[in-house]
Amino acid sequence: PQFLPANLNAIVRNCYQLVRVHSRKTPIEFTLDLDEKVPPLVMDQDQITQVLMNLVINAVEAMPNGGTLRVSTRWFPDTASVVLEVRDSGEGILPEDQDRIFDPFFTRKTEGTGLGLSISRQILERHGAHIDVESRADSGTAFRVTFPSRWSRV
Ligand code: ADP
Ligand code: MG
Repeated sequence: PQFLPANLNAIVRNCYQLVRVHSRKTPIEFTLDLDEKVPPLVMDQDQITQVLMNLVINAVEAMPNGGTLRVSTRWFPDTASVVLEVRDSGEGILPEDQDRIFDPFFTRKTEGTGLGLSISRQILERHGAHIDVESRADSGTAFRVTFPSRWSRV
């Protein structure tokens, strides 16, 4: 892995464009809300791209009939941390599933691998970051990744 200072917003813009093009057939309203104060973070750019792709593709898959997808970044100077959020208005996650979605091979999809979130969590752990989820059956799902920039700030 290559840990180098990277621009998280640029990674988000790239993933976003890719997924947007690939989900043209679904009526999804995409919103990007990027905080330009986010400092460069020391990360493996390819691995963080993989995490983001996993989250955004899951969001699209949760909205087969369309919906809204919002990706945001925020810099929190008080805690010196960066939060990346992927929020969808999809089907949501059952409360009893919420502890299991990060387990390897846990999937509710007929052709799912159940590996996206478990790999993502491993990658984030290696970055000293953590991921959590907030979901309700009626209001969709938000995955939130917190990067401590205490050490990753340049
Ligand atoms: P896969 O996508 O192959 O099923 P993941 O590890 O990416 O594997 O996700 C595991 C499970 O978590 C999914 O099958 C789904 O049940 C749930 N999940 C993940 N993201 C979302 C989301 N945005 N909305 C609803 N359910 C989700
Ligand atoms: Mg997935």
